[in-house]
Amino acid sequence: MKLFAIFGNPVKHSKSPLMHNYALKNLKYNGCYTRILLEDGEKLKDEFLKLKLSGANITVPFKEDAYRLADEVRGVAKKIKAINTLVLEDGKLIGYNTDAGGFLKSISEFKKVKSVLILGAGGTAKAIATILKEEKFSVTLLNRSKNRLDYFKDSGINAYSWNEFKTQKFDLIVNTTSAGLDDDSLPAPKDILDEVLKNAKYAYDVIYKETAFLKLAKEHNLIVKNGLDMLLLQGVIAFDYFTKQKFKEKKIVKYMSKALKEF
Ligand code: NDP
Repeated sequence: MKLFAIFGNPVKHSKSPLMHNYALKNLKYNGCYTRILLEDGEKLKDEFLKLKLSGANITVPFKEDAYRLADEVRGVAKKIKAINTLVLEDGKLIGYNTDAGGFLKSISEFKKVKSVLILGAGGTAKAIATILKEEKFSVTLLNRSKNRLDYFKDSGINAYSWNEFKTQKFDLIVNTTSAGLDDDSLPAPKDILDEVLKNAKYAYDVIYKETAFLKLAKEHNLIVKNGLDMLLLQGVIAFDYFTKQKFKEKKIVKYMSKALKEF
């Protein structure tokens, strides 16, 4: 039997064990997926090997540690410098970032999107901005403070703090901040949001529920989407790596989405 896990701190809330175990069981793959509360990111690789895992997901705050500790990093994760998926391949730990690909797949239903405004400049913003830039979208970023803008500026992305921002027209506005996670706060000042939402077509929030930001976007008659599909699709891509492309994507989506809906 193959063993998989998610490492994080906290990790209790993670829906990954539910999604992966339901897909493993229904696709009749001899595997099991557990959660591991890690105190020290430096110990990630040792724990992975000690537990004889075949693959793992990595969540907050260890995605950068995982990037450093992986034997090889593939795809867009090399630019993001953070990974959320580790796979054992010929004794080596191979790292991927499936948050980026999961997000990209989750906006495939949005048509004619050329320009995107990202709110926030944390780890999720990095993954999303980097994949969108790679896919040739015009990407702009707006963050509360200046502190974290350098990564984006160095990657050729126009990045502003609230004070510096001048309104432009964007097709899609994406909230990657945690504003609205546990309260009704907005991810940027309301006057800025009203201006950009007025001219946009779509609004997306990486948080898994209808936030104050999405409610405001609806008032502006935008098509809105929350982060559930991103959660689902990052898991689907990780599962595909774990099981070495053994199953059709449609089947993995079927079982993982069922797990998310039913439990
Ligand atoms: P980080 O802690 O790395 O980044 C947080 C960012 O949000 C910073 O730019 C910070 O600004 C900004 N911010 C925080 N609070 C506020 C606020 N009240 N108002 C305005 N800006 C704020 O977070 P992550 O990128 O790791 O995660 C962000 C969110 O994404 C979380 O809610 C997480 O649950 C969600 N997520 C969803 C996924 C999915 O699959 N759907 C996958 C991964 C994450 P500043 O720099 O000024 O401090």
